[in-house]
Amino acid sequence: MLLIGSHVGFKKDSQLLGSLNETLSYGANTFMFYTGAPQNTMRYKIDDALTKEALLKMQEENIDYSKVIVHAPYIINLGNADNSDKYMFAVNFLKGEISRCEELGIKNIVLHPGSHVGCGIEEGIKNIAQGLNMILGNTSVTILLETMAGKGSEVGSKLEEIAQIINLVEDKEHIGVCLDTCHLSDAGYDIKDFDKFLNEFDSLIGIDKIKCVHVNDSKNEVGAHKDRHENIGFGYIGFDTLINIIYNKKLEDIPKILETPYVDREYAPYKYEIAMIKNKKFDDKLLEKIKSQEHINN
Ligand code: FE
Ligand code: FE
Ligand code: ZN
Repeated sequence: MLLIGSHVGFKKDSQLLGSLNETLSYGANTFMFYTGAPQNTMRYKIDDALTKEALLKMQEENIDYSKVIVHAPYIINLGNADNSDKYMFAVNFLKGEISRCEELGIKNIVLHPGSHVGCGIEEGIKNIAQGLNMILGNTSVTILLETMAGKGSEVGSKLEEIAQIINLVEDKEHIGVCLDTCHLSDAGYDIKDFDKFLNEFDSLIGIDKIKCVHVNDSKNEVGAHKDRHENIGFGYIGFDTLINIIYNKKLEDIPKILETPYVDREYAPYKYEIAMIKNKKFDDKLLEKIKSQEHINN
């Protein structure tokens, strides 16, 4: 069954229940959320009553909670350990995120591996693996390393780098990968021939490590290293390639998560993009329709 959703909010007052309601409003059957603002490390207490209510509603709505994803805040950087206070703050913050995932019953958390910020890629890889080894080993939560666009000094834009990190991680059972189509394309991978890409992934890392796919188009051409997401079908990757990835048999049970931009920074595109993905037919007027909030019937 196609598992499709988007990143959704997680607000103080509604928490998991609010995330679920937003998901349902998009016609989605899975979702990803940050346990607080993605750009900061402020976190509030988890309300178990709201979690319970959300879990019951998910049962009614046939949403497989074991596939729901949390994303760690992207300011957390394990790639550079020059300042040990900063590095340990990142490690400890991630430990806290993992605890919140456990409290919420979440199985998978996506993490940007990190940036080496000048210490070099080899050192960066070691720093990341060392941090992961301090965090894993004693948890049921799996950390999914996201493939990166290669902006600045980001580690993880090459599959070999992800493979090296995984090789250094002791608790292999709790380390996985999240593919991001925009990042892969920006990193220089031609995903038009996605089966070829998957074969390469399989030989370097193992296809069973893929636990999540971020489905985004890209505002830039292959290899641009920019990391600017575009709405589905409106960028350089294109609709057919993305549909081919979304419906790939080898990734059938893997959640597909949209992180495409709001239209005019105001209108969430997900309900419309999800409908278009289900139809498998590109609508080149989609963004205009979203802007005018015209109702789309399937
Ligand atoms: Fe991400
Ligand atoms: Fe992503
Ligand atoms: Zn991105």
